[in-house]
Amino acid sequence: MLLAARPVGLPRPTDWKLLEVPVGEPDEGEFLVQVRYLSLDPAMRGWMNEGRSYIRPVEIGEVMRAGAVGRVISSRHPGFAVGDHVSGAFGVQEYCVSDGRDVTIVDPALAPLPVYLGTLGMTGITAYFGLLDVGRPQPGQTVVVSAAAGAVGSVVGQIAKLLGCRVIGIAGGEHKCRLVVDEFGFDAAIDYRSEDVQKALRQHAPDGVDVYFDNVGGDILDAVLTRLARGARIVICGAISQYNNTEPVKGPSNYMSLLVNRASMTGMVVFDYADRYSEAVAKLAEWLAAGQLRSMEDVFPGGVSAFPETLLRLFRGENRGKLVLQVADE
Ligand code: NDP
Repeated sequence: MLLAARPVGLPRPTDWKLLEVPVGEPDEGEFLVQVRYLSLDPAMRGWMNEGRSYIRPVEIGEVMRAGAVGRVISSRHPGFAVGDHVSGAFGVQEYCVSDGRDVTIVDPALAPLPVYLGTLGMTGITAYFGLLDVGRPQPGQTVVVSAAAGAVGSVVGQIAKLLGCRVIGIAGGEHKCRLVVDEFGFDAAIDYRSEDVQKALRQHAPDGVDVYFDNVGGDILDAVLTRLARGARIVICGAISQYNNTEPVKGPSNYMSLLVNRASMTGMVVFDYADRYSEAVAKLAEWLAAGQLRSMEDVFPGGVSAFPETLLRLFRGENRGKLVLQVADE
């Protein structure tokens, strides 16, 4: 699937082009992967834009960038054998020739393959370092997470609970709020679609918010800013409410609360932790194996041609846990 045009607002079908070409042959030092599952990420929207960011934009006519897991089906690389299951940035395509750079071998006996795109993949790692390194919660402190029923948010809240924090999730709709409390074990959830977030925070976080893990930006960030505890840390992980803006991004109008409360707001990009990924994955895998962490994947069938429509589910809030597109049968 190629990027055909730079979208304005939500991506449209005309922003994509599906192209069929013969499958590539690996050269010496390369191997061929059959892609099984694709990671669908809000960040993809940003990668479609021109301009300076933390990663270069996907070019017009280029295969859309995507994390994926698949199986090696032919190899001329000493480190990767036929039959190995691998995770890497294979792109929105059915087959990918790789030289092995930034590719890891994963074990489907330890966890189902889609988990390696979520809790044991980029979103789990983001939750781990974003919360522990940037949020730095202490036991007994109050942690608030937005997009709480999503891939990153659900893991953030569960780790915070494991650390002994009081955890409040913000999510869209009654069903997701129930999920956040009943399945992910948060102490409370706020439905931003039907509740006044500021008022609900007064009720659920009477002593203020010590850590806000922000996945959405916009009005919700503004509301949480009014409820900060002294010395609070805000982790700017994402701002999905702003990704499809056709107007410039709106900055937080309540930012003076940072001054009043001696608080900080820090951006984090998971790629900066590349040399420590294995540390996060080992801990996350340990919690999963012990039944202390619940991983949720929302897997859609349909293959590469279903990518444009399935991606939109993220922006409509239709996913629960990690959104994954199945490309081939296991
Ligand atoms: P999610 O699984 O959380 O899916 C996105 C969710 O965002 C939706 O389900 C929806 O939940 C919510 N959402 C969509 N539109 C809006 C809106 N207008 N206002 C409020 N909420 C909205 O995605 P991920 O877990 O993959 O990503 C979560 C965030 O983390 C994103 O902002 C992403 O860009 C960021 N991220 C950042 C990384 C980094 O290195 N900094 C790495 C990975 C992700 P609901 O129904 O509750 O509204």
